[in-house]
Amino acid sequence: MDVSYPIMEHFYTIQGEGYHTGVPAYFIRMAGCNVQCWWCDVKDSWDGEKHPLISVKYLCEQVKKSGTQKVVITGGEPLIHDLKPLSTELKKLAVDIHIETSGSSPISGLLDWVTLSPKRFKKPLSEVYEHVDELKVVVLTNKDIEWAESEAQKCPKTTMLYLQPEWDTDESIPLIVNYVKKNPQWAISLQTHKFLDVP
Ligand code: SF4
Repeated sequence: MDVSYPIMEHFYTIQGEGYHTGVPAYFIRMAGCNVQCWWCDVKDSWDGEKHPLISVKYLCEQVKKSGTQKVVITGGEPLIHDLKPLSTELKKLAVDIHIETSGSSPISGLLDWVTLSPKRFKKPLSEVYEHVDELKVVVLTNKDIEWAESEAQKCPKTTMLYLQPEWDTDESIPLIVNYVKKNPQWAISLQTHKFLDVP
């Protein structure tokens, strides 16, 4: 059966954040989010019903056509959907599958790289932590750094640790720079796609 998902957008671009910064990747932005951060820059993604249902077959055709080696499934909150049908078909194209999630719903599907971006007001499910390859915490204030440290304790020792300034909060940058200099197990993740002006 050809399963469909509500999709806000899908496009071939450059990964702008975190460990895989600078690498070309096909982004699939799923619609629907049960977290609803006030500073979210993709609020249009929240209501799944506002977006078209797109079939796995069509998405896989576009991914294949792009020639990408990596697919990033993002949102919205992609884990509110069962990712098994999509990821099973994508795997037939021999691409790496990455996901960016708040961890608010159970992990599903065949995933090669899990980026957890936890939210203080809707905490990740405890079962998600063991799968995390990269922890990326958006920082506005010192409280977020404390939260980042407590989340890091729950992840595997091999997890890459990133603090990311909130794009519109200038004060977050010196806060993060000072913290990372004193705590070098952390690195800074920047939203470089915004500088490059790619989606
Ligand atoms: S979890 Fe992501 S998509 Fe959902 S509101 Fe927060 S930033 Fe936006």
